[in-house]
Amino acid sequence: MIVDFHTHIGGVKSYHRNLKGLIFVTENDLLSYMVEFNIQRAVVLPAHGFDVELGEYIQSSENVLRICRSHPGLIPFCCIDPMESKKSSFIEDYVSKGARGYGEYKVKLPIDHTSSQEIYEICGKLKIPILMHIDGSHSYMFEEAFQKIAYKYNKTVFIMHGPGWWRHISAEQSREVYPTGPVKPGGLVDRILSEFENVYADISATSGFNALQRDRNYARGFLEKHGSKIVFGTDFPCIDPYGEQFGPDGLHLNLLKSLELSDKTLEAILFNNAERLLNLSQ
Ligand SMILES: [Zn+2]
Repeated sequence: MIVDFHTHIGGVKSYHRNLKGLIFVTENDLLSYMVEFNIQRAVVLPAHGFDVELGEYIQSSENVLRICRSHPGLIPFCCIDPMESKKSSFIEDYVSKGARGYGEYKVKLPIDHTSSQEIYEICGKLKIPILMHIDGSHSYMFEEAFQKIAYKYNKTVFIMHGPGWWRHISAEQSREVYPTGPVKPGGLVDRILSEFENVYADISATSGFNALQRDRNYARGFLEKHGSKIVFGTDFPCIDPYGEQFGPDGLHLNLLKSLELSDKTLEAILFNNAERLLNLSQ
């Protein structure tokens, strides 16, 4: 069994120089990718903070819930405008309608902003995980503030993703968004995953792929060590660094399979961790 923990339905911008404009997918495109790769379940993430001015359009929580109702392989998450004043009633309503988690939380706020903290708290109370996108402009100030947040909201499960998280797989800091070359052990990612039971990570998009691909020896040991805290995901339908599409490009799945991980670790990353986080057995 395989769960893709990070997918979207709707339109995303291509940042590849040989592929301009928007890529628009429906649930049928997602389902056809899943059939081709023998993926039984996929988490479908609505999101605030995609660039509407560029024409990006990720399906809303309402639409994601509606779509997933007719497709049992699809698992809906939800999200709201972080400035919404009645946060808990909205989120509770989505959860009562079937949402299994919150996110993708991609907002131009520091990671410890009061509105974000309200959302972390609600997710903890409702026992739903929150999938975080971290970069220089979304949930920023991660390095300084996140450990306090993870400690303060220790009932909340955080699933970390994005370049602002994965660049810290190495203790050696670079200014690059996607740093390359050997990983210096002892990075913040290793320390946080070791220290906080409630913090996980997904390997989706360029950020997760690059972090593991840049130093495959380190990646093997890292995944064996933190195998119970990592989930497979792609960020379908976004465009990969080679101009193909995450998911159908097989990039993340082939990377995991090529690392010669133990069966236990591979199964945990592909399915068991997601099953536990999402209560799929219920
Ligand atoms: Zn995403």
